[in-house]
Amino acid sequence: MGLLVVGSLGLDTVATPFDRIEDALGGSATYISLAASYFSGPIRLVGVVGSDFPKEYIDMLNTHNIDLEGLQIVEGGKTFRWSGKYHYDLNVRDTLYTELNVFEKFDPVIPDSARKSKFVCLGNIDPVLQSKVLDQMENPQFVVCDTMNYWIEGKKKELLELLPRVNVLIINDSEARLLAHEPNLIRAAKMIRAMGPEILIIKKGEHGALLFTEETIFSAPAFPMESIYDPTGAGDSFAGGFIGYLFKTRDLSSESLKRAVIYGSTMASFCVEKFSTKGLEELSYLQIQDRFRQFMNLSRFDEE
Ligand code: AMP
Repeated sequence: MGLLVVGSLGLDTVATPFDRIEDALGGSATYISLAASYFSGPIRLVGVVGSDFPKEYIDMLNTHNIDLEGLQIVEGGKTFRWSGKYHYDLNVRDTLYTELNVFEKFDPVIPDSARKSKFVCLGNIDPVLQSKVLDQMENPQFVVCDTMNYWIEGKKKELLELLPRVNVLIINDSEARLLAHEPNLIRAAKMIRAMGPEILIIKKGEHGALLFTEETIFSAPAFPMESIYDPTGAGDSFAGGFIGYLFKTRDLSSESLKRAVIYGSTMASFCVEKFSTKGLEELSYLQIQDRFRQFMNLSRFDEE
């Protein structure tokens, strides 16, 4: 039945202190699907683009066993566009513009072949649309949801209605503080889990990620990298690696969740090495395994 991924596909214009790229492939669903595709297929992607969306991007997604039956292509429509500018500290980014375009009227339709999917990843889009997706699913077992400040500020009520329906919420540290109105992350995590998701992941950019469940708090490091080219999509690649691994193993135990967080961090580290989706386009599972092991060595130490 595959792993269902719903989210944005877009054309990103990104400036870092070192370079700039225009109308490159981006979008939450794009990064999630590519990252997840290295673990298990097929990935069933649901989203929308306009007729200006380059065919070469569709071909590239197809080569990764990403099924595009659920991709709507609006004739004459304009694809979602986003632009961001990174500061010298690459953890800080300003959104220059968000043009929803075809997303404004997007009504996600889940193809029959994907309605029985047990694993669902709701990429960062309007929480109203994320709820509409869940309404169409037959009996999803494991729902991972990503969101961002844009929706926490603009659609808080709708987001709060969605949260009891998801198993895992993935957000970054500033979004967690914003959602909970609480500066301390540990207290914020407690408050957010009380809003519905039994599992919460808080990403902290180059400082790693925290996993909160009923039983544990697990702290994962980020991969120490000498050159970060473009941080765009790191969060989505994290989500893709996380759910991709769990979908592959179907093991939702605490230990497996921890490994999934490390696989998420692994995919994020590949993502930021190149502009746009380039860092995720030509990996091998061996490279992923190798970096996963380097992660293990990063925080392993003896008692004495
Ligand atoms: P990340 O760096 O993981 O936060 O994700 C960046 C990606 O999210 C970019 O490729 C954008 O196209 C996409 N994006 C940015 N803002 C939005 C939004 N409001 N809704 C959906 N996708 C977005």
